[in-house]
Amino acid sequence: MRLRGGHNIKLQGVPGGFLETASSPDILHYPLETKSFNYSQVCVTDGQTVGLGDVLAKDPDNYDVPLLASCSGRVDLEMTPRHLTIKDLATEEPKEYSYKDEQEHIHKKMGPAGLKRYKLLNLGAWEYVRDAYTGATPDPLSTPQAIIVSTMRLEPILTKGDVLLKEYLRQFTRGLEHLQSLLEYQPIYLVLPKIKTDLATRIKEQIRGYAWVKIVEVPLKYPYGNVTILSRYLGLKRGQESIWGINVDGVLAIDGALTASKPCIDRVISVAGPGAKRPTHLKLVAGYPLAKIMSEHAQPDCVAIDGGMLTGSLLTQDVKGVPADCKGITLLPEQQSREFLAFIRPGFDRQSYSACFMSSLCGDFPERLTNAVRGELRPCVSCNFCEDVCPARIIPHRLHKLIYQDDIDQVERSRIDLCIECGLCSYVCPSKLELVHQFQQAKQAIAAEKAAAKEAEDEQQTDSE
Ligand code: SF4
Ligand code: SF4
Repeated sequence: MRLRGGHNIKLQGVPGGFLETASSPDILHYPLETKSFNYSQVCVTDGQTVGLGDVLAKDPDNYDVPLLASCSGRVDLEMTPRHLTIKDLATEEPKEYSYKDEQEHIHKKMGPAGLKRYKLLNLGAWEYVRDAYTGATPDPLSTPQAIIVSTMRLEPILTKGDVLLKEYLRQFTRGLEHLQSLLEYQPIYLVLPKIKTDLATRIKEQIRGYAWVKIVEVPLKYPYGNVTILSRYLGLKRGQESIWGINVDGVLAIDGALTASKPCIDRVISVAGPGAKRPTHLKLVAGYPLAKIMSEHAQPDCVAIDGGMLTGSLLTQDVKGVPADCKGITLLPEQQSREFLAFIRPGFDRQSYSACFMSSLCGDFPERLTNAVRGELRPCVSCNFCEDVCPARIIPHRLHKLIYQDDIDQVERSRIDLCIECGLCSYVCPSKLELVHQFQQAKQAIAAEKAAAKEAEDEQQTDSE
């Protein structure tokens, strides 16, 4: 399958290629619900003293993925609603992972590879592994049909793989070796951008001789680094065995867990965007206070988004710390007043996919985006821009019209399930339609309908028995 669609967005506030370490926090607030995990099983008690790497909570719906303490200190379960707080922080070296008696049966049953997977789960590295088709956490004890390692995270503002690769190339290649040791004969696809750079040459030199790594080069265009799109591109079919998708930070976490046997507590996130004082890549720990990030890195009157410009979600006032699965914080200036007659302005400072502003005469430039909508919502004008950019080969404006008609069966038949929620259709839509949001809701409605139908079928079967 050929890659299609995609679009690169130029924005102000993209971080440079260097890493900074965040200043020391004096308190940590771990949100118990994040985008990917719900740490509903709290494993500590109020007032308990915990050490670095101790399990604070687990997500029982995702193979008990743990939330690990990133500092030693005292637990407070009351201070912030829906958060687990650690105060009276003290610095401590992480303890080395030790075998527990109950793991002996895994060793006997699955051998050293099974034990390694268990270790990845317990040391917090498993949260980086995703099923390429569903986006869910795969079963750590399952065997995939292939692994896709994507070095390209191309969503505007997020930390790209090359920032980490420049610093940790040796650890990355060692992480690939560890991944291979979990497999039997299944391939690992290493996805690199189709451009000639010193870094790409160094990576290829480092992995020369790794016959089990297949290099795949793709154009540097958002969202071609997405593992679902890459699975389809590589012709890997959704089947009984899943396809694991991992980014560079995940491979480094796997190396940390299996080489040093230490818990994965460090995160590298981008703190950037048009509202950042100094766009940067920040090394910090989960639970790091958001108030501290805002005071040190954000300009006044900014909103913070958990994630990138296109797929992130608003960090509301009640979120107090960096979520464990946060990949970046995008800072957007909050426009307090409406632009007067915004729709008739020539737009020298605005970008548009339709090249309808005067800026299209000035060539490419990074836009200073704010949270302003600039104008009213309009009906779909059938411009087809959304179809042009959609990398999933579906027709977003058709889906939009079917959703508007409430024809959920046709929405399903039009393959809404192929949508990877990259956000490009919403971004380019001149009518400012919230397409991705509509598609997310429609997918949920379809899933709920199917679940209800299955429940009714099960009940009927039980009655007839
Ligand atoms: S329909 Fe889905 S995959 Fe296509 S552009 Fe929109 S969000 Fe992306
Ligand atoms: S980009 Fe917006 S206005 Fe244009 S066809 Fe798609 S939904 Fe309609």
